Amino acid sequence: MSAEVFRNYINGEWTDGGYFENRNPADTGEVVGQFVKATAGDVAKAADAAQAALSGWSNMPAPARGALLFKVADILEKKFDQLGAEMTREEGKTLPEAKGEVRRAINIFRYFGGEGARMPGMVVPSERDRVHMFAIRKPIGVVGQINPWNFPIAIPAWKLAPALIAGNTVLLKPASAAPLSSWRIVEACHEAGIPKGVVNYLAGSGGAIGGAIVNAPPVKAISFTGSCGIGNWIHAEASKRRLRIQLEMGGKNPTIVLADADFDAAVENVCNAAFFSTGQKCTATSRVIVEDAIHDRFVEALVARTKKLKVGNGMEPGIDIGPAIDQGQLDVNLRYIEIGRKECGEPLCGGKRLTGGAYDKGYFVEPTIFAGVTENMTLAQEEIFGPVLAVMRAKDPASALRIANNIPFGLSASIQTSNVSRVFDFVYGMEAGLLTVNLPSAGVEYQLPFGGTKDSSFGPKEQGPAAMDFYSDWKTIYLKY
Ligand code: NAP
Repeated sequence: MSAEVFRNYINGEWTDGGYFENRNPADTGEVVGQFVKATAGDVAKAADAAQAALSGWSNMPAPARGALLFKVADILEKKFDQLGAEMTREEGKTLPEAKGEVRRAINIFRYFGGEGARMPGMVVPSERDRVHMFAIRKPIGVVGQINPWNFPIAIPAWKLAPALIAGNTVLLKPASAAPLSSWRIVEACHEAGIPKGVVNYLAGSGGAIGGAIVNAPPVKAISFTGSCGIGNWIHAEASKRRLRIQLEMGGKNPTIVLADADFDAAVENVCNAAFFSTGQKCTATSRVIVEDAIHDRFVEALVARTKKLKVGNGMEPGIDIGPAIDQGQLDVNLRYIEIGRKECGEPLCGGKRLTGGAYDKGYFVEPTIFAGVTENMTLAQEEIFGPVLAVMRAKDPASALRIANNIPFGLSASIQTSNVSRVFDFVYGMEAGLLTVNLPSAGVEYQLPFGGTKDSSFGPKEQGPAAMDFYSDWKTIYLKY
């Protein structure tokens, strides 16, 4: 049976072209779908369509735009089980994780749909007599959105929904490794009756069409989530045209475990944050910094817990961890495991590609823990984006915080402690955009700002009310009556 074809969506039409295949990383014999490769010409058409649609869309009352976003949420909800299963097949994360992400995308559309009836502006008293002064939000225009593969429905949702409610029109590029989940959002936008040209979907390799999106004359802003290398290139390129830029990039997130932590909960939180979703969350823990007093006992318990994790096809019940997304990421994981061996000796657990039987069909690697990692080692400094955890020892809470901050990244960080003063030392001293206390470092909600600091991020935050700051401009009015 030949695989289903998923076309690009330009100016309200499903458009054709050459295809690329998307395969299931847990079972590479299965083609998830054939996707049309957009060309630079397609990007130009989509950008012109988005420009033409802008006036009608931005002049529609915001609550009416919100009503359309509610419809998108309802359509996604009706396909909830299908969308979860499709995401597991295209990305590899387990079915419960995939369904959780679909739920998040639905909630995001509802949240920003509601924003249509609020769209808070500002009204302040004037110093002058009989002057009314206020500020309203206006859309920026055509926005390019470039997405990664690791949250293939939540990230496109948290870029698209605020852009639309603010009145912008969009060119959406999915990651080539996981293009189906965001295709379903665009399909839902079509079915909901969002006018033609408002949302345009362009699959295809970033190398081939990324530059065309950034340089399309109608595009006024770029929102990008992905690696630092591509993000830095986009920053340089988009700055030439003084585009508004939002970049969310890599991390090397720490979890600090202090001696006074709830021990069992800390083991569980670190195991979850380091290995679930195969370590492929931008907020995953990749360094655990353990206070000397409990270091050995904690590491022993963490290794024992990690050895119980079941790796396999995420469609099967009982599986904790799926595959790496593709051969490239698997190779990266194995390369860093070899670096770890050179830097610290044999890992305490894991360290190998899983082979034999069904494992041979996918990109499976054992969850791996290296102990004795010190601050200047590669394992302590570079993002891996896989299930490889570096354990570091700290003599006291102050040195744990110093070690945690000693990296160029600043995405997420976590502390496990029962001491409220240590919590506040962490809250004020940790250089990261997202902090958790006595929770895994990964696992955010959509109602508050999301994003990092230092080399992890650039520009206004995503999600929550803060998302509107990127997708709108202030217009300030002074009115004498
Ligand atoms: P990536 O390789 O940088 O790709 C991200 C997106 O950029 C993809 O759509 C990719 O297209 C596209 N792209 C590639 N080359 C391009 C170019 N020259 N111009 C414009 N776009 C281009 O990153 P990834 O492997 O998908 O994702 C993993 C990275 O994302 C990790 O570093 C992770 O930390 C980061 N991430 C960060 C966050 C956050 O919120 N901070 C969230 C999730 C992931 P193709 O897929 O076609 O190559």
